[in-house]
Amino acid sequence: MRSATALKHHVRQKNAARAKRKSAAPGASGPVRERNCSVARTVGILSDAWAFLVIREAFFGARRFETFRSALGLPRGTLSARLKSLTQQGIFRQVHYAEGSSRVEYRLTKAGLDLYPSFMALMQFGDRWLTGRKGPPLQLVHADCGKECKPIVACSSCLKHVRPQDSRYRDGPGAGRTPVQAAKRSRRASDPSQFMRGRPSSVSLSLQVMGDKWTFLVIREAFLGVRRFDKFLSELNIAPNILTDRLNRLIDRGIFKKKKYQDLPERYEYRLTDMGKDLYGSLVAMMAWGDRWLSHGEPPIQLTHTTCGKDFTPTVICDKCRKPVTASNMRYRLKYDPRDYEADSDYGRVAPGRI
Ligand SMILES: [Zn+2]
Ligand SMILES: [Zn+2]
Repeated sequence: MRSATALKHHVRQKNAARAKRKSAAPGASGPVRERNCSVARTVGILSDAWAFLVIREAFFGARRFETFRSALGLPRGTLSARLKSLTQQGIFRQVHYAEGSSRVEYRLTKAGLDLYPSFMALMQFGDRWLTGRKGPPLQLVHADCGKECKPIVACSSCLKHVRPQDSRYRDGPGAGRTPVQAAKRSRRASDPSQFMRGRPSSVSLSLQVMGDKWTFLVIREAFLGVRRFDKFLSELNIAPNILTDRLNRLIDRGIFKKKKYQDLPERYEYRLTDMGKDLYGSLVAMMAWGDRWLSHGEPPIQLTHTTCGKDFTPTVICDKCRKPVTASNMRYRLKYDPRDYEADSDYGRVAPGRI
């Protein structure tokens, strides 16, 4: 309970600060402002490669400091700092080993466990586009129906798969722009190859493609309809050289394609490829998490599903029985030998989700 309270406190503080800033006129000169966005808030947590890896290992059953350390080979100081900040953010709670023991283990809170569907959505994207000839490292089985399962991101109303072309959005109660904190903006991006530490993972592959904060923001703007360089620049307040770098990387990775729209002078638009459009499910799944846990009941964006005409919450469901996928109703089969990646031999074998 302690960490749920910590999360609420954290959100309350953030919202109070936001309310103060909201009174300033939009577009006024002053600090750089960025769009309020639940996906950005979620990516803010997961784009730190260490934080992401720690959460992932927790989904595989890790609870103790040494287990995390041996699975990921992190320096003690780095691991300890991440566990501390994820606890403050309300993702983990500390539980004492035994009555009177001073040693603690780290368990996912409700908010932490609720990240699982987003991980599933990112995993499916990685499985579809990034695993190559080796194929997916995990086979998922849905305990509710007992079938091998490939989770999909669906409309909460009609349970049909959501695609960007079937969704509309409008401002929700939390819409607006908030000044960017200088510290946040100057934080150095983590090296994307760090996402690949430890076990093979399609979630890591997906985050390696889009986990960098700027890369992700560029993709988000594309889903909001931005196609031209100058528009990306003005929407994001991004330095032109950084924007060029991220656009080129996204083209290399197959997320964007360039299309000429003017001859003299030559000008190009940046459009999402089919692979790029397929990121939509992961983005809205992360958005739903941010809406639930970080937006204090005021989601910045409300989605409507044009297929059924209803407002919806993105929901990750089993493709076989159409029931929601959660951390507790999913099992998995490893397609690799865990001993190759985990120094601690008991870990992994006792994880609750193994089949
Ligand atoms: Zn629908
Ligand atoms: Zn199922």
